[in-house]
Amino acid sequence: EFTVGVLALQGAFIEHVNLLKAARNAVSFSYDIIEVRTVEELNKCSALIIPGGESTTISLVAQRTGLLEPLREFVKVQRKPTWGTCAGMILLSEQANRTKKGGQELIGGLDVRINRNQFGGQQESFETFLDLDFIDRPEEKFPSLFIRAPIVESLLPGTPLEDAVSAPGEHGEGQVKALVRLPKKTISEVGNAGGETTDIVAVQQANVVGMSFHPELSSDFRMHQWWVEKCVYPAIKNA
Ligand code: GLN
Repeated sequence: EFTVGVLALQGAFIEHVNLLKAARNAVSFSYDIIEVRTVEELNKCSALIIPGGESTTISLVAQRTGLLEPLREFVKVQRKPTWGTCAGMILLSEQANRTKKGGQELIGGLDVRINRNQFGGQQESFETFLDLDFIDRPEEKFPSLFIRAPIVESLLPGTPLEDAVSAPGEHGEGQVKALVRLPKKTISEVGNAGGETTDIVAVQQANVVGMSFHPELSSDFRMHQWWVEKCVYPAIKNA
């Protein structure tokens, strides 16, 4: 029995809670699910989801409520499994554009540089169905919503800690790796407002996972099931 938290400062946290509940019925172990707004709540968690929403807002609220440093500690020092979707991935990156020191602070943990709003604004939001070989029933495509979505602009292997936007703590162990790429055909269909970049829309580095899209905004719980089964449960058993 362990506790999975969902950071509930802003954004689509209730949707994550609901899909964590749905995934719980499909796996062979159980866990508690809590919304996290305080350091005390964060301290109860063995793993954490940072939802989509607005990363500047989430960051500012985290700073004001004294959660920012504890979140960095959670991800980069304690190295507990953490998954960020959309705005959540921006916060888990070491570098993001259109962020400024003293304005939006990042948590860090993923050695990537993020381009926010890669595909343009709200109007350019789109849904696509991705072929993912790592989830349950891989033959069924996964519904993926991109809403003012960020993209992984570059991977930063071995970025020196001094260059990281976020302060203390080490980087995630191991190399960051691409988990999901957007097919070229989809990119040409939806347009690419951000110029030269990668096609990477999900990354993993040790216990940290980031995704450009919103698995929480569908009713398909296979991504949540994958995360708790393959990322959270093994990490807890090895801890
Ligand atoms: N563009 C938003 C940001 O920069 C993220 C959008 C989202 O989470 N849907 O925070």
